[in-house]
Amino acid sequence: MKRETICIQGCGRPANGEPRQLPIIQSTTFRYESSEAMAKLFDLEANGYFYTRLANPTNDAVARKIAALEGGTAGVLVSSGMAAVFYSLFNLASAGDHIVSSSTIYGGTFNLFNVTLKKMGIDVTFVEPDWTDEQVNAAFRPNTKLFFGETIANPALTVFDIERYARIAHEHGVPLIIDNTFPTPINCRPFEWGADIVVHSTTKYMDGHSASLGGCVVDSGKFDWNAHKDKFPGLTTPDESYHGLVYTDAFGLGGAYITKIVAQVGRDLGSMISPFNAYILNIGLETLALRMERHCQNAQKVAEWLEKHPKISWINYPGLESSKDYALAQKYMPNGTCGVLSFGLKGGREAAEAFMKKLNLVFIATHVADAQTCLLHPASSTHRQLSDAELAEAGVSPDLVRLSVGIENVDDIIADLEQALA
Ligand SMILES: *Cc1c(COP(=O)(O)O)cnc(C)c1O
Repeated sequence: MKRETICIQGCGRPANGEPRQLPIIQSTTFRYESSEAMAKLFDLEANGYFYTRLANPTNDAVARKIAALEGGTAGVLVSSGMAAVFYSLFNLASAGDHIVSSSTIYGGTFNLFNVTLKKMGIDVTFVEPDWTDEQVNAAFRPNTKLFFGETIANPALTVFDIERYARIAHEHGVPLIIDNTFPTPINCRPFEWGADIVVHSTTKYMDGHSASLGGCVVDSGKFDWNAHKDKFPGLTTPDESYHGLVYTDAFGLGGAYITKIVAQVGRDLGSMISPFNAYILNIGLETLALRMERHCQNAQKVAEWLEKHPKISWINYPGLESSKDYALAQKYMPNGTCGVLSFGLKGGREAAEAFMKKLNLVFIATHVADAQTCLLHPASSTHRQLSDAELAEAGVSPDLVRLSVGIENVDDIIADLEQALA
């Protein structure tokens, strides 16, 4: 199936007389006839559901759809994008380990890496987008477990050179994990460029209507954990909390990584999504391909209009030829990037704040990637915790306004921006 079709039909085909819409299995637990039958489930010897903290049919169906959209072998839904980011790396790295990450990433992820992971004994080295291969190579250590980046960084909008960084990660025997939230698999499938694992904040375009928080981790099934057995003992040696089960032996390369997230990380840390939120997410997914097309068309028109406006000092949208990442965007996302752009006003921070107060249609919200156009001043909101130096490192200037272009009629969006700028 093509991606547009997977959006609609990717949960599987209902049997004769079954509902067209995905049923919400809003149950914490499931009944069994015998304890023997249940024991097999607990030992991961049989497939089935027994407790929603481990797995739930509604959640699984939606994870299957997202995995199919990305072209992966398996996926799991969690309660938020942050949970997805954390699980994806905690599944591979623990105290005493090290990870390498792009410096231009989401503010929440930056805090997780820069502060919270360090408290857990996991060290992080950030690499800059303009570094040479030599400089990036020097960031790796013997205890490095993975390389992390965002396809299009939120809010810096830098485009990650997936193919290049996948090659570097693989030269060091570690997987490349990509946060693909902004382009979604409709505009970019990182696995086609060598990435090994993809994470999403489904809260954004996938849900698309500001209705439910969620996250997803998808595995390509391509990274050979067994070729680097000593680096990834959690996947390749017996799990004491599962009677000595070896994930790569029991589930193969296509299933080991996600099964370990479900059976161990999720079981012990518990950030599961509610089946109701998974159902809402799935309704969003049905129109994802259509919405992404309109988001990109509208954002392109708004970006071209803003670029010519005399009160704008700079604008950054990877779909503009003036963007330093235009060539990378054309390579990885020829059909469009995302609906998010950023710009600065002549007059800096104060002019930005005055302009935002005058908007009528476009509203101020800590959100992006929504059907409704919204905007935010990161330096005074989402990125408040960061110092000016950290802001610069994350690619966020104090005057940066982040605009998330929705799917309203673009003339109305531009008219509102025009009157507020005036
Ligand atoms: C929003 C966002 C996250 C965090 O997702 P939540 O669902 O808010 O936890 C992670 N990565 C990116 C790129 C995001 O935009």
